[in-house]
This record gives sequence, C-alpha cells and structure tokens, in this order.
Amino acid sequence: MQTIKKLVIANRGEIALRILRACRRLGIRTVALYSDVDGDAKYVRLADESVCIGPAAAVHSYLNSASVISAAEVTEANAIHPGYGFLSENADFAEQVEQSGFIFVGPRPQTIRVMGDKISAIRTMREAGVPCVPGSDGAIPDDPQQALALAQQIGFPLMLKASGGGGGKGMRVVREAAQLSEAIAMTRKEAAAAFGNEVIYLERFLQKPRHVEIQVLADAYGNAIHLGDRDCSMQRQHQKVIEEAPAPGLSEAQRKEIGARCVAACVDINYRGAGTFEFLYENGEFFFIEMNTRIQVEHPVTEMITGVDLLQEQIRIADGQKLRFTQGDIQFRGHAFECRINAEDPDTFMPSPGRITQYHMAGGPGVRVDSHVYSNYVVPPYYDSMVAKLITHGMHRREALARMRGALQEMVVDGIKTNLSLHRELAQDETFIRGGMDIHYLENKLLQQRLAQSAQRQKGGLG
Ligand code: ADP
Repeated sequence: MQTIKKLVIANRGEIALRILRACRRLGIRTVALYSDVDGDAKYVRLADESVCIGPAAAVHSYLNSASVISAAEVTEANAIHPGYGFLSENADFAEQVEQSGFIFVGPRPQTIRVMGDKISAIRTMREAGVPCVPGSDGAIPDDPQQALALAQQIGFPLMLKASGGGGGKGMRVVREAAQLSEAIAMTRKEAAAAFGNEVIYLERFLQKPRHVEIQVLADAYGNAIHLGDRDCSMQRQHQKVIEEAPAPGLSEAQRKEIGARCVAACVDINYRGAGTFEFLYENGEFFFIEMNTRIQVEHPVTEMITGVDLLQEQIRIADGQKLRFTQGDIQFRGHAFECRINAEDPDTFMPSPGRITQYHMAGGPGVRVDSHVYSNYVVPPYYDSMVAKLITHGMHRREALARMRGALQEMVVDGIKTNLSLHRELAQDETFIRGGMDIHYLENKLLQQRLAQSAQRQKGGLG
C-alpha cells in the first residue's frame, strides 16, 4: 500500500517535470508550485493542481518554507519533494515538513544537518570508514603556532575551507607557510560574512584530481545499495558541464571497493533516501569531499546504465517501502553522458534569459532530453540558467559519444544564447574523447583559447 497520495513539487524547471513524471508512474497526484513568472510553464498545467507561492524572487517563493508548507496544507497533499537546490538540503525545512505532518522526500533532518556542515560530515565519514582528504580533522586552532604546526604536518599546498561553505565558495589555496596566517584571517572573515559561521578547517590541496561520485539508495530499514559511479570532472567554476557514467579507467576492483564503502557508511549513519558521495580521485585514490543528501542534476546517466528510475525509488523509500533491489540486482550496461544546456553566452558565460523562438529536441536510439522548455517559452532571469539536459546512452563509451555528437547537431534552441556550441566543440575534443581528464581541464582549455584569441587580435591590430 502506498501512503503518498498527493505530492507537492517544491521546485521548478526540468526537475519539477521529472518529479511529476515519476509521480504519474506511481499513481500519485501532483501539486505544482510556481512563482509569479512561472505560471505559464507547461509542467504547471500538466500537474493535477497548482498553487502560486509568491513573487519571482526565490527568497519569496521557492525558498519560502512557510508558503511551501501552507500550499501542502491547502491542497491536502501528504508529501513534499524538494528536488535539488532551493530547500532540498535545508535541515530546518525538512524538520518543519515532518513536524507539520507531511512526508519529506529525503533523508532524516538530522542527517541533512550533519552532512550540511563540512567538518561534521568529514568526521562522520572518516568514522564510517570512508577515505577522506588528509586534513585538520576539525577546526583550525586559534593559536597561530599550532595552526602552522598542523599545516606543516599536512604539507603545502593546502586548502582552507569554511565548514559551513557550499556552492564552491569559502575555499582558499595556500601555497606556502608565509601566507598561512593572513589566509586564515581572510577566509574566517569571508566565511562569517557569507555563511554566518567562521569555523574553517585545513585540507591537503590535490593538484590534478578528477571528480568521481557514487550514487546510493537506502531505505528506512537499514538496506542500502550503490548504483555505481559518475565522473563529473568537466567543470567550469566548480559547475558541472558534462557528466558521464561509469567513470572511465577505474578497475572493477576499485569500483566495487568504493561502492561497498559508501554502502557500509549508509548503514552506519542510518541513511535514508537517495544520496551521492562526492570524491576527488587522484593517482588511484578516493578522497571524500561531501555528501549530497538529495537527488542530483546528473542522476539520469546512472538511470541510463542501470535501468533504475531513481526518482521513483526515492519516492518509494520516502513512502516507507523497502528497497526493491539488492546489490546483486544492479547490473551496469553501457555508458551514458549528460550535457547541461544553459541559457548563457558561449563566450562570456553571462546568463541569456529571454524567449525561445524555436525549440527542437534531439531523438533516436539512446537519446533522452530532460527539459521543461518549448518554442515560445520565456526563460526568466531569476533562476538557474539550465534549460535542458541532453543525455545519451550507448553500449560503450564511443557509441554514447557518437550519439551525443549526432544529438547535439540536431538540437535547436533559438532566440536566446546557449552553450550548445561549447558542447559541440567538447564532443570533438581529443582529450575528452580519450576520457579521464582532471577537474581543471575545461578551465585551462578555455583560458588557452582566450589567450590565443587575444594574441590573434593583437597581431591583427599591429598588421
Ligand atoms: P562545495 O560544497 O562548495 O561545492 P566542495 O567541498 O564540494 O565544496 O568542493 C568544491 C570543489 O572545490 C571540488 O569539486 C574541487 O574542484 C575543489 N576542491 C575541494 N577540495 C579540494 C581539495 N582538497 N583539493 C583540491 N581541490 C579541491
């Protein structure tokens, strides 16, 4: 028997539509929430009911927990799905949802709280046997001599990180001892201003890591499985641009080992729901950096290679059902990629909202597009600029990539600027085709291009 009968989708854009699709398959009625500028979105009309929760600015709508909870009350829904971003990793919100008598589709509030603080997350993971980056194991001591001794023990270069940080902010690289005390003072100040928490810690700075993460599912009864790994090293300013599954070049033994450790950690910390363990991977070693206690943007690549509908399973777990799979049931088939198509200028990366005059999505075998947009849709300027996720699957990496190249040629998003041209270029990039590049690869490539362009311009000017 399913307890969840009607679910509030506390999000917008493609993930709102993705949640809606999962609910339909499960026979759950849906309530779409929308801000003043999202009322015309088609997924809002596809939902069984919809409620306007406030003005465009997210703080007054999608981030307004009181409005979200009262929307659930007035529509007599009994569950709330937070998606990703917005309120998805807000422990206080999860607690309010549960205290108001609704099912929160996510982990227990206490788990979100522990994982939301980096120091407590790392400590918890280290105790659960997950490999972490060598570091200060707690806050940096106030005494400068003690801080220096600790830093020298870890070794330079190292990274200062805000315990309350997130979104790639609140981090600073320190290359030598002479810079340490000033860097500590600055990072503390920034952390206090940005996150209201001045606690910072130290970690070894890894020079050329890859970003490899493990997807897990765990039910409320102590059963947990992993669904393999993803490589998200193709990043710009800590934002993922292309993701793939499985991560290229890992041995079967390594995959099994890290997967098993994550599963054991889930059991150890009594994890419930869908989650992701994020690691930096360097010279064959994994180093835990954080756990995301929600569904992630890049979940489709895992769905493509496992055939598991992660959203449905996440909702089933929240419903109180037992996990339907054992580890042995999870079979990995082929390879998948995801390109994040953003409404942005391909050269300056500035957001490019506005009306999409023409939209044509790609199709054919092994091609999936997760998107809420259509011809004449207006991309509002207030939110994240992602307009579509293009996902391809093939029997092996080469086939998935060939399908990606074909699909990128087919996709049309006119009227606004998008990063489709960057994706087309990357799909032809030899290093990317080989696979296994580190997290700095894309930034370096873009930098080289800019330098070459300005050299060209100078030459032109002189000639
Ligand atoms: P956030 O929560 O702000 O996203 P993370 O801890 O996940 O912060 O780190 C974000 C990114 O910063 C990582 O993907 C990686 O690129 C870089 N980074 C974090 N820790 C280290 C480290 N110890 N060495 C090198 N790079 C790091």
